[in-house]
Amino acid sequence: MKIAFIGLGNMGGGMAANLVKAGHAVNAFDLSEAALDAAKEHGCATFTDAAAACDGVEAVVTMLPNGQIVQSVYEGSVIGRAPEGAILLDCSTIDVATARAVIAAAEGAGYDMVDAPVSGGIAAANGGTLTFMVGGSGEAFERAKPILEGMGKAVIHAGAAGNGQAAKICNNMLLGIHMIGTCEAFAMAQKLGLDPQTFYDISSVSSGQCWSMTSYCPVPGVGPTTPADNGYQGGFAAGLMLKDLRLAMDAAEDVNAAVPLAQRARALYEDYVGAGNAEVDFSGIIRTLK
Ligand code: NAD
Repeated sequence: MKIAFIGLGNMGGGMAANLVKAGHAVNAFDLSEAALDAAKEHGCATFTDAAAACDGVEAVVTMLPNGQIVQSVYEGSVIGRAPEGAILLDCSTIDVATARAVIAAAEGAGYDMVDAPVSGGIAAANGGTLTFMVGGSGEAFERAKPILEGMGKAVIHAGAAGNGQAAKICNNMLLGIHMIGTCEAFAMAQKLGLDPQTFYDISSVSSGQCWSMTSYCPVPGVGPTTPADNGYQGGFAAGLMLKDLRLAMDAAEDVNAAVPLAQRARALYEDYVGAGNAEVDFSGIIRTLK
């Protein structure tokens, strides 16, 4: 297929390269010259504006920083410019309300569109092993699926438009909460005289077991290799966790959901990021509890 890819940053760069590897012809656009140069090296055709990249394509994929940018790119450059019948896929993490508004505008102009945010970080984007959670009509999902399969290991239909974003922020809200809980448990266990490895050996096979413990342990040298073993570098930046918790709090307010633990997690990540840790892995928050 001929596909326009807009937003070639940490995530989008690798995703666009994987679409080329999957045999697609990719028209790439980003505001950054460096990102365009890298896309060219990976076999993409590069463009100096988003609208021109959409000429003659069968699909448009976007991977952009936030909802405001997604809305302005779709309204200003994609809707009405991509050929009639093109399928539109926004893979950015954005607020549910904007995702639904952009999809409604696209559908109003005759396009099929899905929100398809991802689970998995830069390594998964580069390696083509992302998980996509997809919101949109059944028909839009079926059209989007083969394109997403070129960039990921799992593509799951979450229901109607916006439900991909809903799944993403609810998942990451839970992740933020259980990471802090895991950090608290390790920090307190140590103060009570328990060796972290011993606590891991017990809790990882007991009822406290969770992903933050057994797949992403925040304590160096314990459990599988994680960013904790690399000075909390790489992995999932605390600034992105804060972004997702803010989106979750906005969504909770919109639907009047009670989220007291997530509110506390958001406040703790606000403090952590405010102290200069935006780029540090989110499990590094354990260092504030010692
Ligand atoms: P990034 O900042 O590295 O990349 C965003 C890119 O968009 C940049 O290259 C920027 O130049 C470009 N851009 C901004 N405005 C633009 C415009 N108007 N037109 C064209 N290009 C424009 O961010 P990222 O880490 O690649 O994240 C992208 C999205 O993926 C975000 O929504 C983020 O929340 C989500 N996400 C990121 C991760 C991660 O680990 N980095 C994981 C899951 C989801």
